[in-house]
Order: sequence, then C-alpha cells, then structure tokens
Amino acid sequence: MKDDMMKVLSLLNSEKNYESIIDFTSNILMEHPDDIKVYYCLAMAYIAKGDKTKGLKHLQNLITQSLSANKEDKLLRLFINQVILQTIQITELSLHGGDVLGANTIQMVKEVKLYAHKLGERDLEQIAENILKRWIHINSSNQPIVALIPDSPLTLQVEPTNACNLNCTMCPRSKMTRKVGFMDTAIFDEMLDGWKNRVIVKQIQHLIFGTTFPLIKRGSIKLFFMGEPLIHNQLDKLIESGKQAGCTVGIQTNGITLVNKEVRQKLLSAKPSVIGISLDGINEMSYEAVRQGARLLDIYNGLKALHKEREEMNLHRKIWIMISSIIPKWNQSSLEHAQKFLEPIRPFVDHIGFIPLSRERDPKFYDENGKIILYSKQPISSTSKLQSLCLEPFTKLNVLWDGSITPCCYDINCAMPLGHIKDGIDNVWKSSKVKELQDALLNQNIKKYHLCSVCMSNTKI
Ligand code: SF4
Repeated sequence: MKDDMMKVLSLLNSEKNYESIIDFTSNILMEHPDDIKVYYCLAMAYIAKGDKTKGLKHLQNLITQSLSANKEDKLLRLFINQVILQTIQITELSLHGGDVLGANTIQMVKEVKLYAHKLGERDLEQIAENILKRWIHINSSNQPIVALIPDSPLTLQVEPTNACNLNCTMCPRSKMTRKVGFMDTAIFDEMLDGWKNRVIVKQIQHLIFGTTFPLIKRGSIKLFFMGEPLIHNQLDKLIESGKQAGCTVGIQTNGITLVNKEVRQKLLSAKPSVIGISLDGINEMSYEAVRQGARLLDIYNGLKALHKEREEMNLHRKIWIMISSIIPKWNQSSLEHAQKFLEPIRPFVDHIGFIPLSRERDPKFYDENGKIILYSKQPISSTSKLQSLCLEPFTKLNVLWDGSITPCCYDINCAMPLGHIKDGIDNVWKSSKVKELQDALLNQNIKKYHLCSVCMSNTKI
C-alpha cells in the first residue's frame, strides 16, 4: 500500500498524466474502499485534469463518509476539515452566475472554524473566517440558502448593438427609448482593461503530497443584450479581443443572417465558445408569427451550413452550437410539440434547451394580449411577501453599446445606471451603487428600485 502511494506521489510530481493517476488510484481504491486518503487522491487527480464535476463529487462523498465516522480521531478530523475548506474553495471557482451552494455548507465552515480554533490551527481558522466573510445568507421561504459574492463579476453581458433585423412580438425592444448604436471596438477593449480579475488562477495544494496545480476560472462574456449581435460588422473583432483577454465568449443570435456564408465564415473564424440561437415555437407558423420578419427555411439552411463548415474547419470541439427555445405554455404537450418541431435540426446542433416564457411565470409583466406593461405598472403592494432573491447584481454586470453599465437585462433603458466602463469594471463592481443595490435586494428593501419592485426575479411567483 505504501509503495502504491509512493507511485502516485511520483506520478503527481513528475508528469501531468492525470488519466494514468486516475486509473491507478481507482484500482487501489477497489482494494481499499474505506481509505479516504486514496479517495482524496482520486478526487484531486480529476480536478487537476479539469473534470471538476467528478472531482467535487468524490470530495463531497469523502466528506459525508468521514463526518459520520471516526469523530474521535483528531488527525483524521483535522484532515477532513482541511478537505472541507478546500472543497469550498474549488466549488467557488466552479460557480456560474446565479448558482448557490448547499444550505448546510455554511454550517460546516462554522464548525471547521470552531474546531480549528480549539486546536490552535490558525491557518485553517483564518481560511474558514475568510470564506464566512464572503458569503451571504438568504432567508427565502424560511429556507437558508447560501451564495457567494465574487470579488469581480463572473460574467459581463455586453451589447454589441441595440439595433435589430427582426421585430419579435415578445421582445421588450419596442419599449426601448435609448439611442440606437453600435459598440466601438475601442470601448470593448477599454472594458477588458478595467476588468483585471477576469481570469482567476488559484494554486490548489494537494493536502497529502504538497504538490500544487493551478485551477483556472475564466470570466465569461455574453455578446447579447438588446438587438442582434450578428449585424455588428466587427463582431468577430469583439470575440477575438475577449478571447485574447482570457475570457470565454459566447453570442446569442436570432440566427437569420447565418444563411449568409460570409457571416458564418467570419463568425467561425473568430471561434466563440458558444453560438446560441433563439429558435422558438411549436411549428413553422407559430415561429414566424412570433419572430416577425424571419423565415424558418433560412434558419434551417443557415444552421445546416454552419454545422458543416464548423466540421470542415475542425472546430467541433472548440465551438458549441446550441438552440434556446422558449415555450409559450409550459406543459408536457407543448414541450413534446416543440421537441418534434426541432427534431430536423437536432443533427446540426450540440444542445437544445427549452425555457418557459416569462409571461407564464410572471403575468404581471404582460397584459392579456401578451404586450409588455412593465413600465406602466405600479410596484407590487408592500403587503405582498417577497420570496425569491434576484442574484443578477451579485454575479454579473451588463454593458451597453455606449459603455454604460446596468444591473440586468430588464433594465432596457438604463434606468438603473451603475457606472460606465471608463470607471473600470472592477471599480464599478466595488462601487457604492452596486453595493447599495445588493444590500437592497438582500434586505428586501427595494422601494427605490422601481424595476426590482415589479420584477419576477425578485417577487413571489
Ligand atoms: S430588475 Fe429584476 S433582474 Fe434586475 S436587478 Fe432588479 S430584481 Fe434583479
């Protein structure tokens, strides 16, 4: 056994062949299924390889198993406490916008802190203290939820343009009063310059062998707000700059210009991580009725060609093509119809995601004809109980084409300005305006924020 572990140690130290470490450690684990240290090595090998999901699953199993046994073994408890904190730090690097962690996590950290204090383990106590400081408690429906406020936004949703080539019935653009324009590449680059924390590299130390490996989290940029990104004639430059700055970059498009070969080639050559296409409806008629100005046949042809050219350019592992489909009436029958409707394009995309139309979740936003009434609506009565908490301003900033910054995509007219990219993204994130909005949402004291007070993200639904 000792020899086996020495072999793992030399593998970890000498090479980065994590696959062979995983195979090797899995075999040892079969012979010693209760050995939590081997379990730990396996988890860390997965994480070092980049498979955080599997690694975290193993770490969580390890914690659960160990917490229920050997409570008297002080050395073991200390090791488990270290694993708990390390797991949280790794999880933090895996979070996307709006995620929350398990409700019992905060309690575990509190216990680790107490235990470390009792044992005089100052480093461990300090790590636990730092984690506790950076977490927020949300009392929603009397259920404690735990979430994290990152040091820097995890995502920037950027508006290449608020001009559009369609006139979709459900789009709030008809209520937009802002000037229409296109983002200058210089504004985009200035935005990246002010977002210093966009790539986080943390050295994770192996608690048994002391070896370290870097864990990287990249900031993500979503090129879409109001308007159609593909009609920005320098969209490829924006994608390339974002990627050069170390971010993952995705776009969301209505897809109608993908029928044009030049548009496809420019887009594929820029290599965005994700090309998302909005394609809703349950048949051709409903699609064209909602997406006024679009022809379904063009979308099909464009997607088919995009997929073929992506394969020819050998980019299938680098660019993810996905469809988002909004379902007007969220029930089994509509879902089946929508799935059938999209079946012919399934071979040309990597993923199809179905989303319920917000009007179904939040009738307050729409009148009986489906028209948006958000801006004429009165705030909900103060006697209504607020229930869910909006996590938008805790993870994300939205940058409009002229560089103005706003908290979320409901704010189509920038009624809640938070700053401008010339102030620097990281500075805006730490500004009193963002802090005040976060506090208002946390304390459910949102009277001064008209949009929040009528928003489905923050109200009982
Ligand atoms: S308007 Fe809605 S989505 Fe935007 S910050 Fe307020 S509660 Fe969140």
